[in-house]
Amino acid sequence: MTAEPVIDTQDPPAPAVVPPTVRASLSPSRAADFKTCPLLYRFRSIDRLPERPTVEQARGTLVHAVLERLFDLPAAARTPESAGDLVAPQWDRLVTEEPELAGLFAEGDAAGVAEFLRSAAGLLQGYFAVEDPRRLEPAEREALISAVVDDELLIRGYLDRLDVAPDGALRVVDYKTGGAPREAFEARALFQLKFYALVLWRTRGVVPRVLRLLYLKDAEICDYTPDAEELLRFERTVVALWQAIEQATARQDFRPRPSRLCDWCSHQAHCPSFGGTPPPFPVTATTDPLRDARSGPVAPGADE
Ligand code: SF4
Repeated sequence: MTAEPVIDTQDPPAPAVVPPTVRASLSPSRAADFKTCPLLYRFRSIDRLPERPTVEQARGTLVHAVLERLFDLPAAARTPESAGDLVAPQWDRLVTEEPELAGLFAEGDAAGVAEFLRSAAGLLQGYFAVEDPRRLEPAEREALISAVVDDELLIRGYLDRLDVAPDGALRVVDYKTGGAPREAFEARALFQLKFYALVLWRTRGVVPRVLRLLYLKDAEICDYTPDAEELLRFERTVVALWQAIEQATARQDFRPRPSRLCDWCSHQAHCPSFGGTPPPFPVTATTDPLRDARSGPVAPGADE
């Protein structure tokens, strides 16, 4: 399947002015954490337990970086070969910026690194099987977008790509690079896309025509068309979710919710569902409702 050509017909919106009424901030990744498992939210957002990057996450970050840079090239040059040529330099850049990524491979394991880079190139082939980037001019890439809902809550996150058609229609595109079964993560992925759709609707007054999940491993596209009523309901869901987070924080009560996603959780050692014990609840958590704003939303590709 080949996407229709799109062009950027409007200037990017000015950064949202945060009104003084705002007292909390929430990113789609952290909201999805709470929805998936309240204890996972606590471990990531309140305890801030470190998570060692996995090879799969690193591959996702690398592929996102290559796809972002690919659109820096003139349209005609956006070929599979050009994308392949970007893989190694982008990996070098990422390792320079995040030296812990180098620790994913044993020192001197050139064969392991080469295989890793080959696997990233394989995912890029999946991308070219479903889209022709020579026919696209994204309006925005890896853009941080935000909106205020319910006067008090700032919602924000990075979207992978935003396409704007000549008639002004918006298409939000999210690249999925993970090797985990799609059905285990599809609800979470769609939740995040609706989050972006809500931000765009609130800031631009336009309901995105398409929310697109692009599964690179399977070379498949999953399109979803939201409507205003649905986004209104979703907005209420997000606000209710935040209120539930506030209550859980005040009570210091974040319960585990075991599911298939536990297989991908880094915190089983601290989780009672796996015989672990959570660390003492941090005393600052109840007095810092804007902590999510300070930690910053998860960057594209880092949450695969
Ligand atoms: S292991 Fe499962 S139940 Fe425990 S914190 Fe992680 S996601 Fe939640």
